[in-house]
Amino acid sequence: MYGFSFDRASSVQDAAAKAANGGQLLAGGQTLLASMKQRLASPETLVDLSGIADLKGICKDGNAMVVGAMTRHQEVATNKELIATIAGLARLAGGIGDRQVRAMGTIGGSVANNDPAACYPSAVLGLGATIKTNKREIAADKFFQGLFTTALEPGEMILSIRFPIPKASAYAKFKQPASRYALLGVFVAQTDSGVRVAVTGGGNGVVRHAGLEAALSKSFSPSAVDGVTVSASEFTSDLHASAEYRAQLLKVQTKRAVHQALGNA
Ligand SMILES: Cc1cc2nc3c(=O)[nH]c(=O)nc-3n(C[C@H](O)[C@H](O)[C@H](O)COP(=O)(O)OP(=O)(O)OC[C@H]3O[C@@H](n4cnc5c(N)ncnc54)[C@H](O)[C@@H]3O)c2cc1C
Repeated sequence: MYGFSFDRASSVQDAAAKAANGGQLLAGGQTLLASMKQRLASPETLVDLSGIADLKGICKDGNAMVVGAMTRHQEVATNKELIATIAGLARLAGGIGDRQVRAMGTIGGSVANNDPAACYPSAVLGLGATIKTNKREIAADKFFQGLFTTALEPGEMILSIRFPIPKASAYAKFKQPASRYALLGVFVAQTDSGVRVAVTGGGNGVVRHAGLEAALSKSFSPSAVDGVTVSASEFTSDLHASAEYRAQLLKVQTKRAVHQALGNA
């Protein structure tokens, strides 16, 4: 690890000013600190967000649940109102990594990082959430832009994420057993305007699947998945799984997610 200075921000404005000055935001450190140890990242200044109360917590706002950027995975997993309104999101958070990762990692850090096998981006995209930053609001459909890339500008900070409450939702992850990230994960949300399906772990980043969305919007049942054609060309092969295997997993995991969303899990 290289030398760096550590600066604890006292407010959103303070953090934004420090980030605009070249500081790198530090949330749960579960990705950033490991990257620094491996010398993949070498920020001169870390701007710690952990002391900013405005960035923490979960609340209901009209027909949406709003989750602060510095809310840890464990809080999302155990929040009773979230479990009652967006069960798929709470369950997703409870399946991230291990206890330490869930105790430290945050939703803002995960979404900003946009790891192609991370879980949260699939919920954000699958639920059609809105990402609120210190500069603007960004729709999920425009936010995720491929491998570790988002619509965030340098120094821009996520403040919270607003999730519309769906009729039903679920996340089915097939874990890569060593890392516990998604070898393939599917988030399914049934909404008033149709079904949204977001897939993580399949390639360069989270994507929606038009074929599955059309079939499930007609009939929200596991058997509706049978008639959907999924091509291996939609996926990446790596040392963990071939593209053909991931294509097969997509249908299996989508069926599991729908089954769970219908309250059968
Ligand atoms: C062993 C292990 C297993 C894991 N398993 C999983 C898994 O199963 N599923 C999964 O989804 N994830 C998994 N993770 C990743 C975990 O969820 C991390 O918490 C997450 O990737 C990063 O969140 P963080 O809060 O630790 O962010 P940090 O590591 O502190 O920051 C990550 C990046 O986001 C930026 N950032 C942080 N906060 C903000 C903000 N508010 N606005 C803008 N930019 C910001 C930082 O500058 C940095 O570039 C795992 C991690 C580990 C170490």
